[in-house]
Amino acid sequence: MGAHHPERPARLTAIDDQLIASGVGPHLTRFDAPLATDEQLARVHPPEYVRAIREVAPRSGTIHLDPDTAMNPFTLQAALRAAGAAVLAVDLVLQRKVDSAFCAVRPPGHHACRARPMGFCIFNNVAVAARHALAAHGLERVAIIDFDVHHGNGTEDIFEGDEQVLMASIFQHPFYPYSGTDNPARNMFNVPLAAGSGARELQEAVREEWLPALNEFKPELIVFSAGFDAHAEDEMAMLRFKDDDYRWVTEQVKAVAERHAKGRIVSMLEGGYALSALGRSAMQHIKVLAGLN
Ligand SMILES: [Zn+2]
Repeated sequence: MGAHHPERPARLTAIDDQLIASGVGPHLTRFDAPLATDEQLARVHPPEYVRAIREVAPRSGTIHLDPDTAMNPFTLQAALRAAGAAVLAVDLVLQRKVDSAFCAVRPPGHHACRARPMGFCIFNNVAVAARHALAAHGLERVAIIDFDVHHGNGTEDIFEGDEQVLMASIFQHPFYPYSGTDNPARNMFNVPLAAGSGARELQEAVREEWLPALNEFKPELIVFSAGFDAHAEDEMAMLRFKDDDYRWVTEQVKAVAERHAKGRIVSMLEGGYALSALGRSAMQHIKVLAGLN
């Protein structure tokens, strides 16, 4: 995204460092992300949009898609691999080759709307995952759980009114992108939290809003939009989550997956910009997914 931009390569190193330091790394199987195909992207984004992104991708230098979102000569490949990771992760989990999958990808995806890049996001990775599960594997119900501090407006844009997909989220409000509070459709369970909210407010939202909706919906697969920027140490926003809150929320959702979805979970990295907090929180999340707690 450019020098001094918070969405930077060191984010992935920070997660890797924590996996090594905690001893979790050796328990995981690693896969390289393939490039998403036009067919896989077309389930989410109009072909003209994908074509336009390919055409504006620079050969040198940096171009801006919006004030926050830039492309350099490597960005298109990274975005295609982030979406491709979503596809591979769904295949691996649904073919029972792995129990669950965490995709350590950049750029993130949940602000990418059907036909608009936004907020560091180019393709909506979790949407590509959900639609791949529905279209290529014949699933009928996929739930998307978004605990990034920002509302996943792109995911909402793509799925509002889609009966096959339930979206449940928490996010700081009022805050960028200033959406998500008007519950536009019956399949959206978005819970705005005031600045300063922490474990208590998170637990209330999960117990009172998410879990009843999820247990009624009975998802066959759960996809996380796993952003870690609601952490107290993250200066991007003003929620007060701690490392342990990411363990707790993952446990709650995993229990739903075990009840209804044969335990099948795919998790995709979204935000998280305080490097140490990002690494530690992602490690807590991954430990629960891997059954290492
Ligand atoms: Zn975010």
